Amino acid sequence: MSNTESSNIQLELSLLNNGLDFILKGIDELFDDDYVMREYSSAVDIGTSSYKYGVLNLFSGFLLLLKERLYRHMPELIFKGTLKDIRNKLSSEKIPNTVDLDEALEKLEIGPRFVFSERNVKLIRYVQDVRNKFEHYTISVNKYELWSNLSKFLELIDKFLVEELHINIENSPEALELQEKIHTIDSVWQRTQQERRSQFDLEIQDRIEDRIEEFNTSRDRAMQELKTESYSSNGADKLLRNCPDCYEQTMIVYDDFIGICSNPECGSGHALTECLRCDELTPGYPWQEKFCDSCSNWIDEQ
Ligand SMILES: [Zn+2]
Ligand SMILES: [Zn+2]
Repeated sequence: MSNTESSNIQLELSLLNNGLDFILKGIDELFDDDYVMREYSSAVDIGTSSYKYGVLNLFSGFLLLLKERLYRHMPELIFKGTLKDIRNKLSSEKIPNTVDLDEALEKLEIGPRFVFSERNVKLIRYVQDVRNKFEHYTISVNKYELWSNLSKFLELIDKFLVEELHINIENSPEALELQEKIHTIDSVWQRTQQERRSQFDLEIQDRIEDRIEEFNTSRDRAMQELKTESYSSNGADKLLRNCPDCYEQTMIVYDDFIGICSNPECGSGHALTECLRCDELTPGYPWQEKFCDSCSNWIDEQ
C-alpha cells in the first residue's frame, strides 16, 4: 500500500467516525436520559448552551457525512473550488479548505448525483439557520418546533447512513448506537405529540360544550342574528355548512357560535379546521390535515 493510499483510508475513517461522533454528542446535549428534549426556562440559562452545542454538533456531524459521501465518489470533491484548482493546490502540498453546506449539496448533485428532496432541503436549511443563530447570539426557540424538526432531521440522517453510506450497523458500534438513539427519540416524540394533541383536543371539546350551552340559552337571539347576517352577506351559504351529524346545511361557521349546528333536532358542536385546498372551515381538529366536502368530491373526480 502506498503512502497516499493509507492516508486516504485514514481520512475516510475520520470523516465517517467523526461525523457519527459529533451526531452522538449533539444528541446527548439535546436529549435527557429518557430521550426527551431538555427543558430550559429563560434565554440565558444553562439549557440554552445545551441547545447550542447540541445543534452545532448535529450540524457538523451531518456535514461530515455529506463529505464522506463525496469522498467515496472522488476524494478531491471534499475540497472547495474546481477540480483543477484543488489538484494544483494539492500538488504544491497546500491543503485547500473543505466544502461548506452549499458546495457539498452542489457537488453531491454533480458527482454522485444525489439530490435531497425539496422538503428535506428545507429541513436542512432550518437546522442550519438555527445553528447560525445559536453560533452568533442567544435566541429563544420554541422547544416543540425545534424538537419536531430535529426529530425529522435525525430520521433524514438515519436514512442517509443506510441508503447513501451503506453503513452496516453490525460492523459499527457507533452507527448501531446512533440508530437506536434516533429510533427512541422518534418514538418518544410521537408519544409526546399524541399526548399534547389529546390534551389540546380535550380543551377544544370543553369550549365546544360551553358554546352549545350558550347557543341553547340564547337560541332566539342567535337565530335572529343569523338571519340578519345572512341577509347582509347575500345568503346563508357563507355562514352555514353541512353538519356532519344531521347532514343539513345548518352548522354555523362564523363568530360566537362557530362549529355549532343550528338544527334544533341536532344541536351538535364540532371543532373546525381549514381545508388544505380552499381554506374554508371544515369539521376537524386544527392539527388535522383535511379537505372540505366539496374539495374531497373534486379530488375524487380527478
Ligand atoms: Zn346537525
Ligand atoms: Zn375545500
